Amino acid sequence: MPRTVVIGAGIAGLSTAYFLQKLHGRDADYLLLESSGHLGGKITTYAGDGFLVEGGPDSFLTQKRAALDLCRELGLGDQLIGSNQTATPSTYVLSKGRLHPMPEGMMLMAPTMILPVLRSRLISWPGKLRMGLEIFVGRNTTDPDESLGSFVRRRLGAEMLEKIAGPLMAGIHSGDPDSLSLRSTFPMFLELEAKHRSLVLGMMRRKKAQASAQAGASASKPAPDKHTSMFTTLSGGVQQLPDALVSRLDPERIGLNCPVQSLTWEGDPAQGGGYRVTLAGGASAPAENVVFATPAYVTAEIVERLDPALAGNLRKIRYVSTATVSLAFRRSEITCELNGFGFIVPRSEGRRINACSWSSAKFKHRAPEDSVLLRVFIGGAFAEELAEQDEDALIEVARQELREILGITATPILARAYRWRKSVPQYNVGHGLLIQEIERGLATHPGLYLAGAAYHGSGIPECIQRGAETAAKIHRGERLPHPSGAPAACGPAPVALGAASTS
Ligand SMILES: Cc1cc2nc3c(=O)[nH]c(=O)nc-3n(C[C@H](O)[C@H](O)[C@H](O)COP(=O)(O)OP(=O)(O)OC[C@H]3O[C@@H](n4cnc5c(N)ncnc54)[C@H](O)[C@@H]3O)c2cc1C
Repeated sequence: MPRTVVIGAGIAGLSTAYFLQKLHGRDADYLLLESSGHLGGKITTYAGDGFLVEGGPDSFLTQKRAALDLCRELGLGDQLIGSNQTATPSTYVLSKGRLHPMPEGMMLMAPTMILPVLRSRLISWPGKLRMGLEIFVGRNTTDPDESLGSFVRRRLGAEMLEKIAGPLMAGIHSGDPDSLSLRSTFPMFLELEAKHRSLVLGMMRRKKAQASAQAGASASKPAPDKHTSMFTTLSGGVQQLPDALVSRLDPERIGLNCPVQSLTWEGDPAQGGGYRVTLAGGASAPAENVVFATPAYVTAEIVERLDPALAGNLRKIRYVSTATVSLAFRRSEITCELNGFGFIVPRSEGRRINACSWSSAKFKHRAPEDSVLLRVFIGGAFAEELAEQDEDALIEVARQELREILGITATPILARAYRWRKSVPQYNVGHGLLIQEIERGLATHPGLYLAGAAYHGSGIPECIQRGAETAAKIHRGERLPHPSGAPAACGPAPVALGAASTS
């Protein structure tokens, strides 16, 4: 296998290296370079005093199989835990200062049951009437890349956007619903509209079809997959996944504290050439394939000298800053009931937090029995400056907001803040076309690959899937001839990692 340098050891880079090793076995010639001293990128779990605190992701979707399958492949099958199914209703919405349960049967923005919506005190009667009119709304025939906000307003009304779809769906991407592309973030709703015209009718038909398929399947099929809950995590925290990947990799092929600075093409085209990956301290390594598993703006810096136009397009992917603050309290000192997964906060409430997960109610093993663990989300497209404050200020914001919203006046027994500066890529309107443009540019550089959260899905499963696909492409030797004419070949010299890591 020709030498591959993977840049960035988040879940995307680790997965790419793992699948390369799996496909090539002993011949796997890769080098994984990570700028920090941590393996796992945004995945980071703190364990101490009986608490498990997630700094970044706390779970992954099971619907997209890649993460679940990889956990099982790595021997973590018995560590998988679903979210607490007895917590009903699972999510609350803050409205006029009070928490209201999300109407039962809501699939993100689409109601699948009529009665719970009618009974809900969250939505006003004009809002309910407007939602009901959804069944008469026609398809969008004019805008090929409609924003999430425009889609929800058009189909279900402004109140649904303000109270549910905005904080819940745009919240997942820490984004502005009027900028996010529906096609690039929640394409299933486009498909529903295309197929059934009405989301409400489409969801109901789908639910009916699923129920009859399940009834048929349960008669003939044994043992269903026990991880049927939408969100799954690992009993020791999400960090178990990158740790398990690292344990399968050759430690000699991982360079920590190795920030990559630039990439150049070198060699005489007539005799073949290759890339040279240069680290901030000046050490360098030859490579025939290079996988960028770094944020797009970092990738832009690295490829700037090689291809300024490609770098320019990569920089067009906007990133926003977010922060999470985890606070633990003694159960006896809390008066509010925490029966559910937590609450979301519409912008119209004018608060400084976007959402709060009741981590110890959402998943088992997150806190000792006599304590509760809560996790607050701050920042995003509308309040980046809030997320960029120092840790103490973030903790203070979280405490004040929980005091006012939940009446929690107790002193936390644990408080941890994580700042994620320019961490969440925004799949804004035009994202699909921009990615096509970037991929066209990339195709002129044989052996260069983009993995990571910025392009085709930002969740953990998509990052793993992309890593697997990238490794498979390298394995198949899918390379275009270099524009300069000669096929690329890389030299045998290994990078001087020791020198690089001290630089
Ligand atoms: C607060 C938060 C909560 C989230 N919750 C969830 C969730 O519950 N479920 C879910 O599925 N997803 C969630 N996500 C999204 C998901 O965590 C990320 O999209 C995913 O982990 C990104 O992985 P990645 O490998 O693409 O990038 P990263 O994890 O960002 O890894 C990139 C790596 O590149 C390294 N790097 C940067 N520059 C260089 C350089 N010059 N040279 C070498 N290395 C470099 C970085 O140090 C980092 O380790 C969440 C994200 C955040 C911020």
